[in-house]
Amino acid sequence: TAGYCAATGTYSSCHPPIAAATAESFPEYLFRRLLRFPTDLPAFVDASTGASLSFPDLRTLSLKAASALSALGLRRGHVALLLAPNSLHFPVISLGILSLGAVLSAANPLLTPAELADQAGDSEPFLVLTTAELAPKLISLTASRVVLIDHLLARIDDHGTWACPTPDDICRDDPALLFYSSGKTGRSKGVVSTHGNAIAAASFLEHWWRRDDGSVDVFGCVLPMFHMWGFSSFVLGTPAIGATAVLVPGRFSMDKLMAAMEQHGVTRLLAVPPIVVQMVKVAAGEPFATSKARLCLREVVSSGAPLQREHMARFRRCFPLVSLKQCYGLTETTGIVTTCNFPPLAHNGDDGVEFSNEHEPSSISIGRLVPSTEARIVDVESGEALPPGRVGELWIRGPSVMQGYLRREEATAAALVRSASELEQAGKWLRTGDLCYVDSRGLLHVVDRIKEMIKYKAYQVAPAELEDVLAAHPGIHDVAVAPYPDEEAGEIPVACVVRKPGSHTLQARDVMSFVQDKVAPYKKIRKVVFLDSIPRSPSGKISRAQLKSFLRTCTSTA
Ligand code: AMP
Repeated sequence: TAGYCAATGTYSSCHPPIAAATAESFPEYLFRRLLRFPTDLPAFVDASTGASLSFPDLRTLSLKAASALSALGLRRGHVALLLAPNSLHFPVISLGILSLGAVLSAANPLLTPAELADQAGDSEPFLVLTTAELAPKLISLTASRVVLIDHLLARIDDHGTWACPTPDDICRDDPALLFYSSGKTGRSKGVVSTHGNAIAAASFLEHWWRRDDGSVDVFGCVLPMFHMWGFSSFVLGTPAIGATAVLVPGRFSMDKLMAAMEQHGVTRLLAVPPIVVQMVKVAAGEPFATSKARLCLREVVSSGAPLQREHMARFRRCFPLVSLKQCYGLTETTGIVTTCNFPPLAHNGDDGVEFSNEHEPSSISIGRLVPSTEARIVDVESGEALPPGRVGELWIRGPSVMQGYLRREEATAAALVRSASELEQAGKWLRTGDLCYVDSRGLLHVVDRIKEMIKYKAYQVAPAELEDVLAAHPGIHDVAVAPYPDEEAGEIPVACVVRKPGSHTLQARDVMSFVQDKVAPYKKIRKVVFLDSIPRSPSGKISRAQLKSFLRTCTSTA
């Protein structure tokens, strides 16, 4: 298999390595590029209002935002939490924060006030930037720390003269992003990504999306920018290549997306599997069959959760002229680390999509490693690196791999490892918690997820968090939360519950409603299974693999 070194058990990217960028900070890397793009081309268009932002405007406004944030006291090393839905302001404020050498942490607006308090308690933000609608969710924070985005924008307008605040002393290893992920186990943790990681992530996308003829795509943006797949694509990626991103804000609706695609001639749509499923449903209807949206759209790229072969087959029947691709990444890798159709291999048609997954027939390939990135497939029991065709845990090493989890030394040490024989400079391997294999063509396939994480519509749900909530129920003796396959959502969280003696009247709906108000809607328990005992190891840890395979065969629903 090309790129495989049997001596070290390492797979290297078959693409030429990306030359090291000279920039030290992500804004320095991006702002240089922004000045090169035509002034009449929008970097962002808000399809709901028609408002747009050019590339030079993006740079100027970001620097003005930095100036206004600096006037509020934000400094290098401080954390600024951004709690906001997608809008033209999201990239402006993000880049403003990064320009100061401050660390951007983003939060999902669907989180409850208590969940937001947890995240803010962990990340200790100097400032929280939010909208008037979302501000009431921040009740636990000192009011002086909360800044309304509209107020900040008013200050930007006031800053007729502004100083370019980019400190010269931002280094590549300085933290830039603090997004949250539960990783392999436990509750949500702050993933520390550096300016160097952000530059690497943007350069992968630049190489992937660059076209030989110099033309650029119009991207449809429905992915939330508070999640790494959306953030890396639309704050780090599309501005760096001079591509327009058409934002379709608000609750996801196929009608809105179609209207925006038609009006703005979207050529490439970045998605998650549930969007692909929705597209297939809608495409069966007549209006879309003849619309311009269908004529312009060239490619849909899915990531964030596994795309089922069956959904891809249906999509192909509905959209014969649109290519559907899959890529793979984690918050911990600052976005994608594998993709199909990455040049220069695209021309030979060997783009990774068609090939079957021998170990998991329902799924399709996630493609090949992005440049400058290596992988290992490691036997979970023995720790031995495995050759092509063998299934093991995927380890990733490369310039976009996080620095670690904020103040979580143990979790960091468990996630980032270095073989005894390797030199310090070699960088650490990230243990992804995904079971994968590499086929004889060098294509990667995901077989299963062995980490605890559940993916509901590609949103992360941490079982440990729901177990903590459920453990407080007076009728529950023991509980474990696990993923359960679902056609539309991919997976749903299911609670396996052991009733307390005397609580035989406890019903599934009681369990579900107990959780409902305490967590964000996407984390809700959607199924309950009552058991006599939860499978546990001798040390008392939940045997999650056993539970997962039991649930696959379990038909008794609540
Ligand atoms: P997140 O940090 O929320 O992006 O979640 C990362 C996890 O999502 C990965 O470790 C995988 O378990 C899953 N994932 C992302 N993309 C894919 C994909 N294309 N196929 C299968 N699983 C995926």
